[in-house]
Amino acid sequence: MAKSQLRPGLTLIATPIGNAGDITLRALDALRDADAIAAEDTRVARRLMDIHGVSLRGRPLIPYHDHNAASAMPRLMELLRGGGRVVFLSDAGTPMVADPGYRLAKAVLAEGIPLEATPGPCAAIMALTLSGLPSDRFTFAGFPPNKREARRTFLRELAPLPTTLILYESPKRLAASLADMLEVFGPRDAAVARELTKMFEETRRGSLDSLAAMYAEEGAPKGEVVVVIGPPAAAEPAGEADIDAALREALETMTTKDAAKKVATALNLPRKQVYDRALALKND
Ligand code: SAM
Repeated sequence: MAKSQLRPGLTLIATPIGNAGDITLRALDALRDADAIAAEDTRVARRLMDIHGVSLRGRPLIPYHDHNAASAMPRLMELLRGGGRVVFLSDAGTPMVADPGYRLAKAVLAEGIPLEATPGPCAAIMALTLSGLPSDRFTFAGFPPNKREARRTFLRELAPLPTTLILYESPKRLAASLADMLEVFGPRDAAVARELTKMFEETRRGSLDSLAAMYAEEGAPKGEVVVVIGPPAAAEPAGEADIDAALREALETMTTKDAAKKVATALNLPRKQVYDRALALKND
């Protein structure tokens, strides 16, 4: 067996999001070599280790999740301060992505203890790569709030962002959530990725109105879902006729300079270009 690469400190391990084969060789090495294993759900961690033939060999397997962080953290920090090699894995995917791990990682960094990660599956990234939507700039915003009014407020805050949006959602709220997204975002291009890496994996692509109508009719789908929404359409740059019309109106009551300033700001154009055009119109 290759010599262990795992160093003292905390290593965050990404785990499969459905297909047990999606775990890296480095992640398995880390699980094999760690002095202690912290897991969101120790049964889920045990199952994964069993599938891949990694035995516990009497090492501590410590539950660590949002609700027991206060009591579990001191034990983990003690091991880490003593130079222990501790790994942490959440139930599925990348720790800290809508999953526990943040408080632990923060505490580790605050004490100058090394933090490492073995990268791997993440439902948000897989959904983005399958969505067919722009991927040069994207925003992951986790789960929208459950209640309708709070969800709409949350979506309204995201609406102006010029990026693709990625949201996790529960299947039972999917139809209601898509209806709110349609109302707030309009009929943008979107995708719903479901059961990624599993037997019934599917990605539906279409405009938000068609997806909202589809799930309103079909009801809650089975399994886990990610919603990806394309960015807002870029505003068309103002044409010459728009600039002239705005300038003529402004010039009726303003100086050339003030009219150019107002129109340049309103149409998001360079002030010099608008000023030159205002002068030309005035001299006509
Ligand atoms: N840490 C995980 C990751 O890296 O993707 C996310 C954990 S979060 C608690 C669980 C949510 O992730 C689900 O409700 C769903 O929105 C999304 N998700 C996880 N696995 C998925 C899968 N196989 N297919 C679709 N969505 C998935």
